[in-house]
Amino acid sequence: MKAFKPLSKFKGIGEIYRYFNTEKKCKDYYEQARWGGNVTCPHCGSENPYRTNRGFKCSNKECHKKFSIISGSIFENTKISLSIWFAVIYKMGIAKKGVNSHELSREIGISQPTAWFLLQRVRTFLSVEIMNVMLNGIIEADETYFGGRVTNMKVNKRTKDSQGRSLTKKPVVGMIERNGKVKAFVTEDTTAKVINPLFKEHVVEGSTVVTDGYTGYVNIQEKYNHKSVKHGKYKFILKEGDNKFHTQNIEGFWSLLKRSYVGIHHYMSPKHLQKYVSEHVYRHNNRKLTKFGLFENSLALAASTRITYNQLIGKS
Ligand SMILES: [Zn+2]
Repeated sequence: MKAFKPLSKFKGIGEIYRYFNTEKKCKDYYEQARWGGNVTCPHCGSENPYRTNRGFKCSNKECHKKFSIISGSIFENTKISLSIWFAVIYKMGIAKKGVNSHELSREIGISQPTAWFLLQRVRTFLSVEIMNVMLNGIIEADETYFGGRVTNMKVNKRTKDSQGRSLTKKPVVGMIERNGKVKAFVTEDTTAKVINPLFKEHVVEGSTVVTDGYTGYVNIQEKYNHKSVKHGKYKFILKEGDNKFHTQNIEGFWSLLKRSYVGIHHYMSPKHLQKYVSEHVYRHNNRKLTKFGLFENSLALAASTRITYNQLIGKS
């Protein structure tokens, strides 16, 4: 098995793009990233396929299907070179504030619509990582309003009491585990009817959930140890023995998300908002990885995720 250690020293998108300058180099690397030297048929799971000129043929008599290193992965049927995909994936990992398709198009010399398409696709498969993770322990939860045009961004958070008036802004409900991972979801509204099932799906029953005094959370005490720490205008840190309960971590996540949005995007359609939120969730949850570690982690996700065009454009 070939080692690719020198790559870990790569620092910027330019270096990555210059290193992966042929499809052969990309494919050799991706083969290692995907199968670690143990090529597996994506149709039946058999190992040790025959190598052919264009890829592999399964050695299992009942299957015998041909496949390539990109079969059954996000890159299947792509007309875009792997060099470009790799550069986009790397960039998405290192760009703390997110990536704008215009900037990306200039940086690697592709059209803006292509850059937009690639970014959406990468955002979608990165979002898969957190899907099946349940949060546990002490969870801070909060909601904010997000999206629409930048000029409308400075709306006070208290607009949650006037929901429905904004045509482009959408509520986003976030949950962050103390010293752990964050999850965030674009929702139709922030009523208990919407919030309760979200908790059921993403937070282990019996966990401690810290929120402000918003009434949407009032019912969660049936299944969780609920701490309400904010009342009216005033923020509180609730002290109980050695424990301090507050919502500062989730608020920090919101403020980073909003600053990034103002700096990078001019407009965000509600239809695609979840993908942008998920992109930030992904970076936050992997913030301890090195730049190259993030790239490798993202490639592994690319290998295991398949997304249809309809999912990509938000139709399903
Ligand atoms: Zn097979």
